[in-house]
Amino acid sequence: MNTNIQAIGLMSGGLDSILALYLMLEQGLAVEALHALLPVHETGQLDWIQQVCQRAGVPLYVANLEAPFFELLRHPQHGYGSGMNPCLDCRILVLRAAAERRRELGAAFVFSGEVVGERPMSQNRRALDLVERRSGLQGRLLRPLSARLLPPTIPEQEGLVDRERLYGISGRSRKEQLALAETYGLRDFPTPAGGCRLTDPNFARRARDLLQHQPNFTSNDFCLLQVGRHFRLAPQIKVISGRHQAENLRLTELAQEGDLLFEVRGGVGSPVTLLRGPANPAAITAAAAITARYSDAPGPQVEVYYGAPYPQLERTMQVAPAEEAWLEQLRI
Ligand code: SF4
Repeated sequence: MNTNIQAIGLMSGGLDSILALYLMLEQGLAVEALHALLPVHETGQLDWIQQVCQRAGVPLYVANLEAPFFELLRHPQHGYGSGMNPCLDCRILVLRAAAERRRELGAAFVFSGEVVGERPMSQNRRALDLVERRSGLQGRLLRPLSARLLPPTIPEQEGLVDRERLYGISGRSRKEQLALAETYGLRDFPTPAGGCRLTDPNFARRARDLLQHQPNFTSNDFCLLQVGRHFRLAPQIKVISGRHQAENLRLTELAQEGDLLFEVRGGVGSPVTLLRGPANPAAITAAAAITARYSDAPGPQVEVYYGAPYPQLERTMQVAPAEEAWLEQLRI
């Protein structure tokens, strides 16, 4: 496919990627924004990116990279960052998708909002060189915010991009980016580094547990990591209990065949609890006790409804609410 698109701009929705886009548009280039859909982004991120692209007047291409992302999360060649974030492999994956899109459209180059030295794992000089090499974009990956600190790329050498109008920003301060945002009248943007759940210590702990016990996890298993309190009863058995109404609803949506759901009824506040894995009698009792513990029902015995699908929970059992010390041993 040959279009008049000259450059593919990576669009994460963060300020740096937006500034890189504006810098390229200012040079009169025809740009397509590419957003890599990864299963670690906050909900709502895509809506925001659509707004950004609409405001800037550029087409948006969304590359769904969920399946290859899960693969690299299982075996990252370059390891994890401070949480469970496999940033180098992730950057290579995203840039490869951009390289492919560049070839499809016959565009001259790819650009990103990366800033030298801004992120310890993926934006030091060695990392920037590595991801450029491994993505097959040698010489065709421009970082407009830091370009003056890096060797000239092919589009700069060929005069498609004016290097004099690029920046030499480095480090984590973001002062220069904020000043640049001001010149473009950009006031409304997400906080830096927000957005990747794998950098959040609580989420990272759950992801680590999932990889350890269920390396063949599904997309649904991964989605569940964002919801509720998590307890591991056995290598293949997990219990997840909602913390509020929205999580209760989400658990009923994510429940699949073979799962059991639990709830205390009769007008008292109760979590919905999901049991995933072989539902043996001990696991059922444990899930019921956890549900009773987080409900408002007074003990010593609580009647818990369970079954599937929700809301037809046809079975009931009487249990004592789970004790805190026991829960702490199971909590993920
Ligand atoms: S922080 Fe998350 S989304 Fe960003 S590069 Fe690292 S793993 Fe990928």
